[in-house]
Amino acid sequence: MCGIVGYIGNQDVKETILSGLEKLEYRGYDSAGIAILNGNGINIYKDKGRIAHLRNVVDFGVKGTVGIGHTRWATHGKPNKVNSHPHQSSTKRFTLVHNGIIENEDALRLEYLKDTKFESDTDTEVVVQMIQKFVDEGQEVPLAIRYTLTLIEGSYALAILDQENPEVIYVAKNKSPLLIGKGEGFNMVGSDAMAMIHHTNQFYELHDKEFAVITKENITIYNLFGMTINRDYYIGELDATDIEKGTYPHYMLKEIDEQPFVLRRIIANYQNEMGQLSMDENILSAIRQSDRVYIVACGTSYHAGLVGKHLLEKVASKPTEIHVSSEFVYNTPLLSERPFFVFISQSGETADSRAVLVKVKEMGYPTLSITNVKGSTLYRETQYQLLLHAGPEIAVASTKAYTAQIAVLAILACKVAVTCDIDMLKELSIAANVMEALCDNKELYDQLARTYLATTRNCFYIGRHVDYYTCLEAALKLKEISYIQTEGFAAGELKHGTIALIEDNTPVIAIITQEGINLNTRSNIKEVKARGAAVITMSLKRLSSKTDQIIIGDVHEYLAPLVSVIPAQLLSYYAALHRDCDIDKPRNLAKSVTVE
Ligand code: GLU
Repeated sequence: MCGIVGYIGNQDVKETILSGLEKLEYRGYDSAGIAILNGNGINIYKDKGRIAHLRNVVDFGVKGTVGIGHTRWATHGKPNKVNSHPHQSSTKRFTLVHNGIIENEDALRLEYLKDTKFESDTDTEVVVQMIQKFVDEGQEVPLAIRYTLTLIEGSYALAILDQENPEVIYVAKNKSPLLIGKGEGFNMVGSDAMAMIHHTNQFYELHDKEFAVITKENITIYNLFGMTINRDYYIGELDATDIEKGTYPHYMLKEIDEQPFVLRRIIANYQNEMGQLSMDENILSAIRQSDRVYIVACGTSYHAGLVGKHLLEKVASKPTEIHVSSEFVYNTPLLSERPFFVFISQSGETADSRAVLVKVKEMGYPTLSITNVKGSTLYRETQYQLLLHAGPEIAVASTKAYTAQIAVLAILACKVAVTCDIDMLKELSIAANVMEALCDNKELYDQLARTYLATTRNCFYIGRHVDYYTCLEAALKLKEISYIQTEGFAAGELKHGTIALIEDNTPVIAIITQEGINLNTRSNIKEVKARGAAVITMSLKRLSSKTDQIIIGDVHEYLAPLVSVIPAQLLSYYAALHRDCDIDKPRNLAKSVTVE
């Protein structure tokens, strides 16, 4: 995780790097730092805390036209000033920032750095000390860096400064994302395009195990053997205004509100000239030829995958399994004869999912990514791709990417089906209208959150059938931003143990969107009420009862998870607001989980 920004050109670097880091803060925000190189040497400012704090630490009197910056999500060593990046070699000649994990750091310390005195507890410092060591032994700097990279195991995106050569930034990448931005009279580097889009929309991809030398005029990419790699830049499609908060107090609220528009954009993007839903036929026939779909994902994307499994099985009669990436990679289940793999990831950079992709590709099976970021690692490395068209999602807690994932999976299921029994285009359009009505009713969620969730220690979501999947996502949303201990439970399972946790006034939120389970879930509501629970019931209009507090407009029951999650997202938002939590940047989290 973490964000890296670098700039080399003619302008003073501080504002470019600091504002670039602000755009990357969703990737990690334990601590931050910046290194500025000028004729007088290197100046480093770093500390625990956010970029807003770093602005107070930086000496704005110091000028320089070359610099690198970092916002950290600690993996090795506490988030404190010493462990913040940039890190320096003992002689202070080399300075670097790093995103990722050096897995063999202990072995490298023993083998190469026995006499080195380390300043920090990070794995990162090993890299900068090794570069220094090989330079001290007489290697040229680019060779010393490449040689170091051949010895490192793990993931890295690196930006490196050499005090004795202020005309250059060296960068390298393996598994962690890194893009190079090409400018006029300047060049940049960043963990993603958002950090650079205000300055350029021309980007070079750096692939794994590649190294680049960047000056203000030139960008040269090499492999680790020192051979030059010719690559064209591409034009980034990101719109700079998409990454602004506008009049919203939080990105999360803006992104919740964007969901009906995103759904309509998805419908438009997956439509042919005749106005019918359409998708790449190669993907559809590859899935049809398979005997089983395996969806692999983490977190919120996993929950969207659960809904996807339901849709593929119900709408397309395609047997589908869903797996958590970090488990699948080490504990791979017995596979069918002709599996087809689907990777769902908002960022397309999720390291756990990528590890599965590498394994599955080695086995030679067909792969599809469903991501929000064109050109991301999963996008590039899968055989087939589908995009979410959700626009940049900045709040750490995912909202619009989740519903976009379900919508794309619904269209996929409908297109894979030999005959699709539902008019998916019409039903998705109805869902978009229902989403809009739900988003327009914010006072209700504000008031319910204040009454039920402002001070509670724990909370339960209960539901059956696909509502159970929504409960899992709703519970994740509430715990990640409000820190309320929340569990999503299959309503029928509660009485098999967990009901022991229900006390007077424990909030239990029940979701009812499926005809066949309405009465059963209502019985479970009675059971928890009898034990003192304070129940909020949300139901589809056609299944509702007079006492239900949240009524969701009618949609096709297959698409209910698209809309029933919205009240849950808004309840989480207002709960976090009433509890004074940092909504867009919840503690301990980062958005794009690029470490395993
Ligand atoms: N492993 C490094 C550290 O703990 C980098 C973490 C990151 O990607 O932010 O400092």
